[in-house]
Amino acid sequence: MLIAKDDLHSALKKYFGFSKFKGLQEDVVGSILSGNHTFVIMPTGGGKSLCYQLPALMQEGTAIVVSPLIALMKNQVDAIRGVSNEEGVAHVLNSSLNKTEVKRVKEDITNGITKLLYVAPESLTKDENVDFLKTVKVSFMAIDEAHCISEWGHDFRPEYRNLRHIIGRIGENIPIIGLTATATPKVQEDIIKNLGISGAKTFKASFNRPNLYYEVRPKTKDVDADIIRFVKQNEGKSGIVYCLSRKRVEELAQVLQVNGVKAVPYHAGLDAKTRSSHQDMFLMEDIDVVVATIAFGMGIDKPDVRFVIHHDIPKSIESYYQETGRAGRDGGEGHCLAFYAYKDIEKLEKFMSGKPVAEQEIGHALLQEVVAFAETSISRRKFILHYFGEEFDTKTGEGGDMDDNVRHPKKKHEAKDDVVILLETIDKTNEKYKSKDLVNVIVGNENALINSHRTNEQPFFGKGKDKDKKMWMALLRQVLIAGYLKKDIETYGVIKLKDEGRAFIKKPTSFMMTEDHIFEGEQEDGTII
Ligand code: ADP
Repeated sequence: MLIAKDDLHSALKKYFGFSKFKGLQEDVVGSILSGNHTFVIMPTGGGKSLCYQLPALMQEGTAIVVSPLIALMKNQVDAIRGVSNEEGVAHVLNSSLNKTEVKRVKEDITNGITKLLYVAPESLTKDENVDFLKTVKVSFMAIDEAHCISEWGHDFRPEYRNLRHIIGRIGENIPIIGLTATATPKVQEDIIKNLGISGAKTFKASFNRPNLYYEVRPKTKDVDADIIRFVKQNEGKSGIVYCLSRKRVEELAQVLQVNGVKAVPYHAGLDAKTRSSHQDMFLMEDIDVVVATIAFGMGIDKPDVRFVIHHDIPKSIESYYQETGRAGRDGGEGHCLAFYAYKDIEKLEKFMSGKPVAEQEIGHALLQEVVAFAETSISRRKFILHYFGEEFDTKTGEGGDMDDNVRHPKKKHEAKDDVVILLETIDKTNEKYKSKDLVNVIVGNENALINSHRTNEQPFFGKGKDKDKKMWMALLRQVLIAGYLKKDIETYGVIKLKDEGRAFIKKPTSFMMTEDHIFEGEQEDGTII
């Protein structure tokens, strides 16, 4: 379906009252209307919903939207009904509907009234629903929160794995639109593979949030006092404090209250009434601070959250990004302060120990990135964006000076010769090791894997043993982020040389290495996992 630019704009105005598209929306809408498989990667708040809602409203037939979050689906349906004067324009199909309601939904679809049908993946798997959907005109399938398909995402849902198969049963040649706010290359690859949309037109927005200030502080036994001080300094501003456990949420909320801060707790153990009243108090600004577990935040659209504090470091960079992303949505100030102690990483590792091995491995790899992020002395923004597959230049990029490391730089020293040792080791071992073993090779630590490749018998084995593992690990991260190396996606973690790295070996140039932070509780040799 070819649509003129003017028509798109008038449709945008007609259905949503907006006069301009946001970011990549217009191109995405165009791609969907042209019947392409489409893949949309945009940070939370980027305006993903409109990308499929608008083409759905403009087209014949019903667009099926798969979403894992029932509460959010209801909000979206209400919003769409609000913009259109037709109640039947959007429906949710799920197991909570009674027979009469299901009949109404089906009639509206059959009669061509329903443009958007929201379903949870488990409802879509039901034969009776598949059989019905086979008989109607489906304009396209939108898979929201598409990262749920990947074990590497922060919210893996096995039912998502079946989607491709079910879509195939509903009809051939139905355009598929995947949407996510998780942008790691590995998750993206999983989504494309699992949805079978290898030729999809891909639209990726920048994940940079220039107005957020990132800061990591060491977590000591005085962390409560540190948090109170910070909150007091920001009196009257809205903020969220995330804790890992419900118990800690309760305790810290109380400590804040005792200290005169208008704070309430929020976690899944509270009854629904209390939860919703605490949430409303926050939205209405009757209170300033919510102390919460990660149960708080999904779908909360308070634009002027001025700070997000992590009392405990999250289990992945994605979670950190999502949670801090709730600050400064209006483009104003947003201070993201995380407290970090290596002990907390060990705690998170313990939680994982009962899980299946594959899941544990993924969990460890994600945690390793968190450790690297917390301990790094390079720009935190650059680190996060690199993690999401984006290059960022702190000198020219927006928000380049908005983090503790850039504002208060650590010492730097020339590390050209060490970079050469590192790159040559990767080259001479034929690019087969992950970071931990590479560092072992450099410092001359033998282990079963290294010995099985006889790397321990090579002349370069232990070439960097005059420096410790921690320094080599830090250098490796910095060289990776500087663009000389890449992590292999397939094996998640095997370090490969980029062309820039090969060029460096041939003709080394200056490389200023930043010294990493030293945190209490780390192991002597800098072991990370
Ligand atoms: P996401 O799903 O990517 O997190 P949403 O779809 O919830 O983002 O959109 C975020 C906010 O941006 C919503 O409040 C929405 O109304 C608003 N929005 C979306 N598109 C536009 C637009 N073109 N102009 C103005 N506001 C928009």
